[in-house]
Amino acid sequence: MSDCIFCKIIAGEIPSRKVYEDEDVYAFHDIHPFARVHFMIIPKLHIASLADAQPAHQALLGKMLLLAPRLAKEQGLDSGFKTLINTGRGGGQEVFHIHIHVFGGGDPVRG
Ligand code: 5GP
Ligand code: ZN
Repeated sequence: MSDCIFCKIIAGEIPSRKVYEDEDVYAFHDIHPFARVHFMIIPKLHIASLADAQPAHQALLGKMLLLAPRLAKEQGLDSGFKTLINTGRGGGQEVFHIHIHVFGGGDPVRG
């Protein structure tokens, strides 16, 4: 998707602070963190939102979810963390490339 900012981040066309990358998944720090640690896990495949996910995406979504505790720990969130998936305009989604927010630590205002 050429007009998707997260696809551009995956392609390296927009810089980001990478947390993790493999053949299926990319993770990077949120540009406007709402906790001491706040990063997002996204698939390299463009899926607009959780509401657009299909049964064929089951393994990919499971992989993203299972990465959350591992990456959270690597980022220093030893005692726990929060996850958030905003879905659709009514769900507060601003970027329409599915992403799992992972955040914690400090004194989160919204978390
Ligand atoms: P949403 O509201 O769609 O769940 O979350 C989108 C998130 O993407 C927001 O927390 C916002 O700060 C983050 N974001 C938007 N544009 C960029 C960007 O260019 N780089 C990074 N690192 N984060 C971004
Ligand atoms: Zn995209």
